[in-house]
This record gives sequence, structure tokens and C-alpha cells, in this order.
Amino acid sequence: MLQDKDRIFTNIYGMHDRTLKGAQARGHWDGTAAIIKKGRDWIIDEMKASGLRGRGGAGFPTGLKWSFMPKESDGRPSYLVVNADESEPGTCKDREIMRHDPHTLIEGCLIASFAMNANACYIYIRGEYIREKEALQAAIDEAYEAGLVGKNACKSGWDFDIYLHHGAGAYICGEETALLESLEGKKGMPRMKPPFPAGAGLYGCPTTVNNVESIAVVPTILRRGGSWFAGFGRPNNTGTKLFAISGHVNNPCVVEEEMSISFEELIEKHCGGIRGGWDNLKAVIPGGSSVPMVPGEAMRNATMDFDYLRNELQSGLGTAAVIVMDQNTDIVKAIWRLSKFYKHESCGQCTPCREGTGWMMRVMDRLVKGDAEPEEIDMLLDVTKQVEGHTICALGDAAAWPIQGLIRHFRSDIEERIAHKRGGQKVAVAAE
Ligand code: NAD
Ligand code: SF4
Repeated sequence: MLQDKDRIFTNIYGMHDRTLKGAQARGHWDGTAAIIKKGRDWIIDEMKASGLRGRGGAGFPTGLKWSFMPKESDGRPSYLVVNADESEPGTCKDREIMRHDPHTLIEGCLIASFAMNANACYIYIRGEYIREKEALQAAIDEAYEAGLVGKNACKSGWDFDIYLHHGAGAYICGEETALLESLEGKKGMPRMKPPFPAGAGLYGCPTTVNNVESIAVVPTILRRGGSWFAGFGRPNNTGTKLFAISGHVNNPCVVEEEMSISFEELIEKHCGGIRGGWDNLKAVIPGGSSVPMVPGEAMRNATMDFDYLRNELQSGLGTAAVIVMDQNTDIVKAIWRLSKFYKHESCGQCTPCREGTGWMMRVMDRLVKGDAEPEEIDMLLDVTKQVEGHTICALGDAAAWPIQGLIRHFRSDIEERIAHKRGGQKVAVAAE
């Protein structure tokens, strides 16, 4: 269990001064130049030793990703791009960092950029995040004024510029290559990978795209040491982690906890338990809407990390946006709503996603009202399998998995709905 002294985010609830003065009083920007002077190899080695896995959802090892960047310039500049386009339904953790702890992100940008030989960093922030943009820009301005960024940043000898780019509210621009397209002034449509951004990213130059939380934890990891961070959680699933818990708990919240905490402890300790008690728990989406839901009984003793949720429960930690649903939830309708979302957000560039999300939503439209034929359940499952793994970006999978989870675990809910309607009874669909 995490102690207060081990928390990286010292102002996640906005109880303290978020300005530079307040941030410095809480230990941020302490010894930044000394960290830079230790050199690129030392920084990347410490990040590898920390075991940090990307906090944007995919969990790719951060130190390894940084090591893909060219050590020597071939004439092209290198860039760090921070993905602050937080849009995954249920996910609201980066918002709290940018609102209340912006300096830890800016300090992280400087150190990470130095480690990757990048003199410039772009933060791409979600269009709807207006107050967060203002807070972050104010912090960037303060950092420039204090000489922490800009020419000879922190008197380290390293020149570093940071730009905040405001998106326009498209979910797909959170996909890293669509984000790069958008940053270049084009329509936000994902690129084929490979090449990965480290080879050809922003303006065709070596680029690393990292999530806000992944970068914001960097300064503390380097001050305290990679092995300190690796001491939390369990092998391959290390560190502290922000969990955003919403839905039918008594106290929804965003909280920093130790990776691999049990679901029960997370909910009891920080959320005051499940609404109506543990017997009232129906299902949980443990990692944002792109991962399949898990029935309540399997979740109670679950270990909240990448490997357990994937290997034991065929789900995922994703963004650690934990969506809790009690027995009053209209589970078919909840997934129908997600289908509508993904259909709306598909960029339409590849056929399985463009057509498949439409197909899936139209069948879900019938299922939610009980109007479908019983055979359509298997047909829908078949369509999800044809979309999954056959698209340019992960949105296709993200649209397919919630439906697969629904059919795998709650098929009887769908069947009952159809039978109810066939018996001439009206199907009650809970209000949206
Ligand atoms: P991914 O697994 O394709 O890539 C993850 C990262 O690792 C990328 O930066 C990629 O460039 C890098 N990478 C992977 N393989 C590599 C290789 N062989 N060489 C070099 N670099 C490599 O996943 P993704 O499509 O970037 O992300 C999908 C995840 O995003 C989903 O699991 C979902 O949880 C999450 N997501 C998050 C949000 C949000 O708001 N934070 C929104 C939508 C989706
Ligand atoms: Fe666009 Fe969907 Fe294809 Fe991604 S999977 S590129 S969102 S059409």
C-alpha cells in the first residue's frame, strides 16, 4: 500500500499552490541541471531500471522507447511529443496533472527531450481541455521567465523550447500518428506503422510520443532512482499509477496508488466501497472503454496491473480508468452507447473499421431494444472478429472488444431482452 511520502503527484486534488513557487516548495525543479549533467545514457538506463511502462494505455516500456531515438543527429531534428489528448471514455487522470501539477510535466519534458536529443517538445492537448490548457500555458510561461526552459535551460547548457498545441476535439487525434498528422496541420488520420515515430515521426523526423503521466513521473524517478520506482508493484508491472475510478462506487476519484494493488483494496480504501455493497457489483471495465469488461465476481480479487488483467481476465489495464457498474446497470445499453461512440469517432480511412463500426452499432441498436433475431448475437460476434486486428489503428479493436466482452459474459442479458420482446412485452431501456 502506498504511503503519502511515496506519492509523485503532490497536488492531484488541487489543494496546494500550483504555481512555480508552490511546485518548487513541493520539491519539483530540484537539481534538474544535475540530472541533465549525468548524461543521456544514465537517464535512459535509469528509466529502463524503473520498469516504467507507458501510461497512455498500451504499456510499452518507456526507457526502451526512448532508446529507439538516434543518438547522433543525421541532420534531422528530433522531437518529443506529449500526448495530452486524453479522450478515452472514463479517463481523466492527465487532466488532474495538467490542472494541478503542471510543473512536474514541464520538468519531465525538459529531461526527456534532453535524453532523446530533442531541442523541442510539443504538447498536444485535447480541444475540450480549456482550463487545463490555461494552467499549463501559465506554467510554461513561468518556466520560461525563470530560465528553467528556453536557452540554456536550468543553466544546464541545453537549449529547449516547449509548445502547447490545442486540438479540436477528435478522439482519433489521441492515436499517436493521427496526432502527428494533426500537429502538421493535416486531417487527423492514423498512419500505417511501421515506420514507428522514432524512425519517421513529426515532419518525417525522429519523434517519441509519450503520454502525460509517463513524462510527469520522470523527474521524481530520476531524483529517487529507477530502483525506488521499481520497488512498487511487481516485476514487469512496477511503480505508482494514477487510477481514475468512476461509476457506481460511493466516492469516485482519481488516486495515485501502487501498481498491482488489488481491486477490492483500491475500491475500499479510496472509493468508500461499491454502491449497495459488493453483492451489488455487476461488472467492471478496468482500463478505459477500449478494454473488455469483466464480471464483478472475477474482479473482486483482481490484481490491478497490465499482466494480470490481460493474462487472467482477458481484459487490460489500459489507461487505468476503472468504470464500475452495479446490478442496476443496463449493461446492453452501456455497450450500445460505446458502439455509438466508436462509430462516431472512426476516421473512416480503412474499410473494416468504417463499415464494421456501422454494422456493429446497427446490430446493437436492435439488440438494445430487443428487436434483433437471436442468431444476430453470433453474427455480431463474427463481425467483431472480422474487425479486430484488421485495421490501421487500434480503434477497430477498441470498438470490437467491448461487444465481445458483453457477449462473453452477459449473453443471457441480451437473450432475455429478445425473449421478453418476443413475448409481446415492452423492453425497458434505462434512460441515457
Ligand atoms: P501500440 O501498442 O501500437 O504502441 C504503443 C507505443 O509503443 C507507441 O508509441 C508505439 O510507437 C510504440 N511501439 C510499439 N511497438 C513498437 C516497435 N516495434 N518499435 C518502436 N516503437 C513501438 O499502441 P497504441 O495504438 O499507441 O495505443 C493503444 C492504446 O491506447 C490502447 O490500448 C488504449 O488503452 C489506449 N488509448 C488511450 C487513450 C487515452 O485517452 N489515453 C485513448 C484511446 C486509446
Ligand atoms: Fe481510421 Fe478506424 Fe482505420 Fe483507425 S481503424 S485508421 S480510426 S478507420
